[in-house]
Amino acid sequence: MGKLIFYLLIAVLIYWLIRSRQPKQKEAEVLPESAEDMVNCAYCGVYLTKSEAIDHHNKYFCCNEHSHLYINSSS
Ligand SMILES: [Zn+2]
Repeated sequence: MGKLIFYLLIAVLIYWLIRSRQPKQKEAEVLPESAEDMVNCAYCGVYLTKSEAIDHHNKYFCCNEHSHLYINSSS
């Protein structure tokens, strides 16, 4: 009976080791965003695709006007 518990513990330990390793590999493969990159305007919060957005100092805006308004309000 003692041996059975010992082998069961080893089996659980191996299973736990395999399980704990797998999510780490998956996390590395997961892309930060979906295929269609969606960003939101830092000023008004409207969602638009990354290609449509105006990139300004690592922030995205829906239009030039909002990028200027955001900079003026933050400084
Ligand atoms: Zn906007």
